[in-house]
Amino acid sequence: ASQETNVYKDSLVRLNRLQDNSFEEEKSEIKLIAPYDIKLDNVHFRYENGSREILKGINLDISSGDKLAILGRSGSGKSTLANLIRGDRVATEGAITINGIDVSKVGDQISNYIGVIHQTPYLFNTTILNNLRIGNEEATIEQVWQVLERVGLKNMVKALPQGLETMVDEAGMRFSGGERHRMALARILLKDAPIIILDEPTVGLDPLTEQEVISIFNRELKDKTLIWITHHLQGVEAMDQVIFIEDGTIEMQGSPDYLRKTNERYQKLKAIDEGR
Ligand code: ATP
Ligand code: MG
Repeated sequence: ASQETNVYKDSLVRLNRLQDNSFEEEKSEIKLIAPYDIKLDNVHFRYENGSREILKGINLDISSGDKLAILGRSGSGKSTLANLIRGDRVATEGAITINGIDVSKVGDQISNYIGVIHQTPYLFNTTILNNLRIGNEEATIEQVWQVLERVGLKNMVKALPQGLETMVDEAGMRFSGGERHRMALARILLKDAPIIILDEPTVGLDPLTEQEVISIFNRELKDKTLIWITHHLQGVEAMDQVIFIEDGTIEMQGSPDYLRKTNERYQKLKAIDEGR
């Protein structure tokens, strides 16, 4: 949940006030203007307490509307990279910019530009309505139903005796994995940020539900810049660009079509993934 604290503007502002005197700085709003082009320039990263350099010089351009898949072994630094792109962590060397502005300087405002869906989307112990409005406090009931319809949850919520006022229990366990992911998507859609990071958003779902969730994500996020971290190749064909991170660098890069035709390793991975 702490990774989603960015949505709590007020509490964050209060925290900032307590933490240091950067409050004034946070107040000065940075306004980015569409189209949003993301640039990673020789990005290196090492955790303060870590001996290993996790990323060792990542260069990457993500243009507005691009669909990028990031693949790599567990521990290769995919989530770390996502946190860097959101400015939640700062590169130890190199820079990450959106339209030339360092993401780490955007502060709380970043949630207006970049939305994230994590592996296990967190639902809070409050009503369904509140859980969705976390994305956008001003969303009308009508808008809430609209997004529920888009993610295929409208009928399910309608059928609940208390509808939108149904309480979500701790960690949202009354919802299935697939429902929780759709809920997270509904929240993101209400917020309507132009750039969306999906960090292994379908882990733990059965293959059919996974397929379904992926196609809903692709359909509903088609107008946005999409950065999709995934551990396997299913659904990757729908992306414009695929990168593989290994040993801290980009080991393979290209369109799925290009990699399929030219890259032996990609072909092997694809064969494994398809169980051939
Ligand atoms: P997965 O596919 O399992 O999610 P990943 O590619 O997302 O893996 P990261 O979570 O980015 O990998 O982690 C990269 C490396 O950084 C790992 O070796 C991990 O142990 C280490 N690491 C992650 N978070 C921290 C942290 N807060 N402090 C120190 N090391 C960390
Ligand atoms: Mg990860």
